[in-house]
Order: sequence, then C-alpha cells, then structure tokens
Amino acid sequence: AQESAEVPKQNDVARLRKIVINSLYSHRDVFLRELISNANDALEKLRLTSLTDKEVLSGAEDLNITIKAFKDQDGHGRIIIRDTGIGMTPEELTANLGTLAKSGTSEFLARAESTDTTGTGNLIGAFGLGFYSSFLVADHVYVSSLAAKSSQNPSPTQYVFSSGADESSFEIYPDPHGNTLGRGTEIILVLKDDALEYTDQHKVSDLIDKHSSFSSAFPIYLYTERTEQVPVEVEETKSDDVDEDVAVVEDADEKDTEPKTEAVTVEEWIHVNSQPPIWMRDPKTVTEEEYKTFYQATFKDYEEPLAWHHFSGDSGSGVSFKAIIYVPSHLDDSWWQNPLQTSSKDIRLMVKRVFITSDLGEDALPKWANWVKVVVDAEDLPLNVSREMLQSTRFLKQLRSIILRHILQMLVRIAEDDPEKWAQVQKVYGNVFKLGAVEDVKNRDKLVGLTRFGTNQRDSTSLDEYLENRKKGQKQIFYIADMGSTPEILAKSVFIEKLHARGYEVLLLTDPLDEIFVQNLRLWKKVQFQDVAKAGLRFGDEEMSPEEEKEEQKTLTEQFKPLLDWLKEEAKDVVRDVVISNRLVTSSCAVVADQMGYTGNIERMMSSSQG
Ligand code: ADP
Ligand code: MG
Repeated sequence: AQESAEVPKQNDVARLRKIVINSLYSHRDVFLRELISNANDALEKLRLTSLTDKEVLSGAEDLNITIKAFKDQDGHGRIIIRDTGIGMTPEELTANLGTLAKSGTSEFLARAESTDTTGTGNLIGAFGLGFYSSFLVADHVYVSSLAAKSSQNPSPTQYVFSSGADESSFEIYPDPHGNTLGRGTEIILVLKDDALEYTDQHKVSDLIDKHSSFSSAFPIYLYTERTEQVPVEVEETKSDDVDEDVAVVEDADEKDTEPKTEAVTVEEWIHVNSQPPIWMRDPKTVTEEEYKTFYQATFKDYEEPLAWHHFSGDSGSGVSFKAIIYVPSHLDDSWWQNPLQTSSKDIRLMVKRVFITSDLGEDALPKWANWVKVVVDAEDLPLNVSREMLQSTRFLKQLRSIILRHILQMLVRIAEDDPEKWAQVQKVYGNVFKLGAVEDVKNRDKLVGLTRFGTNQRDSTSLDEYLENRKKGQKQIFYIADMGSTPEILAKSVFIEKLHARGYEVLLLTDPLDEIFVQNLRLWKKVQFQDVAKAGLRFGDEEMSPEEEKEEQKTLTEQFKPLLDWLKEEAKDVVRDVVISNRLVTSSCAVVADQMGYTGNIERMMSSSQG
C-alpha cells in the first residue's frame, strides 16, 4: 500500500530548496542542531501530554535521543537520529514535513529572497530552517515515525516519509518493517558524497557539544566505535604444588616475550550531554563561550548577547530557583512599533530541568523590560504544574519582580564597571530607559538613573552627575531641546552662549523622547528642568537679588524704550514682545518662547503634523 502526495506549492518547494542548498552551504552544520532540536521538542511534547494522559508513555520507557553516524559497506554515509518523543501519524508526517504551507514558511521565503546571502547567518537565526536543513547534507531522507498511543489513537502504525533532495514530491507509506520503534521518530539521512565528513564521530560529537548538548534536558547518546588491543587469554599450566616464589621467578625469566594481543571493535553509546545544563552549574565554572552559545541556541539569535547575569534565588514563597537573564545585542524594530505589547515570550520556565512554558501571560514584564531573555529553573514546584496552576500561585508575580530587580542591578553594574559595554547598552537601550522612566512609575527612579544625555561640556552624563557638576547656587537643570538636530549644532545655539561662557552645563536633547522625558519628570532630586529657550531661566550666580534685577531691568527698559518700540513695530507680525535680556553674550538678540508656550521644537512637530 503506497500513497504518494504532491506538494501543494511546487514553486515554493523548488525555490526554498534552491535557497537552502545554494546560499547556506557554508552553514550546513546547522542541520544537526535543527534535527536535535526537533527531537527535543517531540520529547517535550510527549512529557507534557503524559501529564494528562499516561497512556502516551507506553511503548518506550526511556525518553532520549540517539545519534549514529557511519559509512555503510559501500562507502555511503548515513546519519540516523532517533527520538522516543511524541511521534507523528501519517497525517502529521504529511502536514508537518510535506507541506510548505506551514506558518512562517512564506514569510521565510520572502525574507530569504530579499536578503543577500552574506546575511544568511541572521536568517538561520531568525527562522531556523528546521527539517529542510536535512537537504543541506543529504540526497535522500527517510523519516519513520510511530505516534504515541493515546485514547484517541490506541493502536498507531509506523509510517515512513521519504523524499529526495532533487524531488519536489514525497512519499508516505506504512513501514514495511512494522512498528519497530516502540514510539517516536527515526530520521535516516543518506549523505551526499561531499558530506561524508559527517560520518566522522569526532566531528559529530564536536557539533553536538557546541550547539546542542545543553539545549536538551533529555539525554543524547552518540554511537561510537573504536578498536582496542586486548590481551589474548593464554592457557597457563599451573600445578598446585609449585609455590608462589617459584612462579615469580619463572615470570621474570620470560619477561622478554611480548604479551599477545588482538584488535577488537568496541561499540559504545556515549552520553554526550551528561553535564548538568549551564544554569544549574556554579557560574564560576561556566565559560563566556558557553554562556554565548547557550544563548544563541536557546533563543535562536545569531548574534551574541550583550550581557548576562546568572544567579540563584528564592521567590519568597518558598520556591528556590536558578536563572540566567540575557541582554540581546539588538532590539527589533517591531519593539517600537507595538507600544502596547507587554508580554514576553522569552522567559523559559523550567521545573527541575524540564521545560514548562515560555508564556508568563498576565504576569509578563512591563514594556521597557520585555526584550529580556531568561531561563528560569524552579526546584520546588511539582513537575506536573500547569501554566494555569502557576498563575494561581504567587510564584510568577514574585518571579517577575525578581527578574526586574536583577535586570536593573545588572545594568547598574555595567554602567559602573564596564564603560565600553555600557556605551553599547546605551546605543541599543538608551531610549528604552527613558520610555521606562516615563511609564513605569514604580521603577522610575532606578530607570532615570540609567538615562544618559549629551551636554555642552561632555558626551554623556547621568542626571546625578549633572547635579554634582552644578555651579554654586544653580537651582535648575538646564536643557535645550531640538529634535532632529545634533548635539554639535545645539551646543552652538545662541540660547546657551551665556550659560556656556559662565561654565554652566546644559543638556542637549535631540530625541523626541528626551523632551517627553523631561516634561514628564519635571523635577529630578527636587531640581526643576528648565528649557533655556524659554522664559523663566535663572542663573544661580546673579550678583543682584531678583528685586535688584527687576529694578535694573526697569531702568534699562526705559533707557532703551525708543529702540524696543521700534523693534516691536518692525517685528510685530513675528513676535509677541521685545524685551531687554541678560542671557546673551556675543549674539545681539534671540527669539525666545513663552514659559508656558510651545518650544520651537514642539511647534515644529505641530506644524508638520498639520501640514
Ligand atoms: P519547527 O520545528 O520550527 O516547527 P521544523 O521544520 O523543524 O519546524 O519541523 C516541522 C514540524 O515537523 C515540527 O513542528 C513537528 O511538528 C514535526 N517534527 C519534526 N521533527 C519531528 C520529530 N522528531 N518528532 C515529531 N515531530 C517532528
Ligand atoms: Mg524545528
């Protein structure tokens, strides 16, 4: 009984295969990582299903992955990857492996074709090629699968999915060998002639080590074969009445004769991921490289993380856990495009090494922190805890605030200890902190502490450093805002001439978020922000009291009345008033916004939005 099915979108198959084979050649190692990750997913699914339906566990007791790479008698290379996971029915084989109408595939095609091949690493990172990466190294792939027994499927049959690299169709048929697997899936790759390197056990073992050993909570066994010289048993004729001393003397006499050995092949399944996963280990024993590769494999990010923090804690309700939180080195554009999205899909919660969920639902992190990637392993929760149950415990809420606290601590530490890394963090997350300070009232002070601004005196300052640098008597935080401008241009503005000349520091705000930030904050450590382009500016070192100043202003205004009147008349269409000022040094006049009025910046925003 042989069924054959045509792939619905022939063109897509051909296009995808072409992309896979041509542009990813130098990345073809990824096939192993992808297949192991599928095996691991299948085992995770089985375990989760077994919580409600014990039946699925029958058929094969152990949950594991086995990998065997070898050359057959004819010199052809083969890799066999087998798991005792959930398995697939013939319908699932067709739907999951045979169809490209799967979610994500068309998106992948679109992106793949619009991205030049130098970026293929990123592509793999972003999408993963999944099962199709088999064709990077294989001419032909056979997948035998026996679905887990369940109440809906009490007597499953083992089926084979078979497809060649050059074919755009596949075949599905009952396995002629019967239900040999017990349960799960076996993938046989018939290697291309130029991919025989993958029959080298050391190569395979290195690849697993590098990309997969830590990503599976289930044991991975690798088949190895080695020849060993073993001594050949020699029949000894020994009579009971010869005492030991005599026997020793006899041995010594014969010591120049070589002991006889023979070569035997020793076969062994080696447990390649026997080390505990990195989050369970003592941070002192985990190398930078291990943290990075673990991050990249777990969160499917081709780029290295910017920073991480590995710690153990106690939720406060008696749940102790270990966690690693990671700061990615980039923030997707979509982060800014979805202002309301607060959930995080990248908090991988495990219980005793076993994956439970990555969806914290209602207890997700606030927007400013939801880019963080976390693995958490809780020791004291029952293994059969469901997400719904979790939600009803206090654990998730506590976990959320612990994660937030640790993110903030980690960032503060980077700011203090590692200027170079801190500059990178600022580049990616600088605006995120400003947004966070506006939105997250509870963590506002800490988030303000992470914000940095350029000034007329230095490239970057925190508000606290600004206040320390205040001049005697200075009672305002001076800033000038012009979005779309540059700090260099702003530093030359007429509005800060006098302040600069007198040694005052002025924040140069060029991002729309900067202005929203200061207007929301209004004060920092009880010191008011003052736009130097607006009325209300006060120097702290005025020699005169405000009363004396008013008096002088009055005298000068009277003295220069003819000039002021003339200017008022000439400029009546553009300005509301013309006054004597003490804020300029070299420029003779400046246009200033009302204290309560719009600044030039916001005025420009308004006119552009109307226009
Ligand atoms: P993804 O893993 O991103 O879904 P893949 O191409 O890697 O994409 O796999 C496609 C689908 O095939 C999987 O979602 C899964 O349903 C199924 N699958 C692949 N490998 C296995 C396996 N070893 N056991 C069970 N199902 C599998
Ligand atoms: Mg996959």
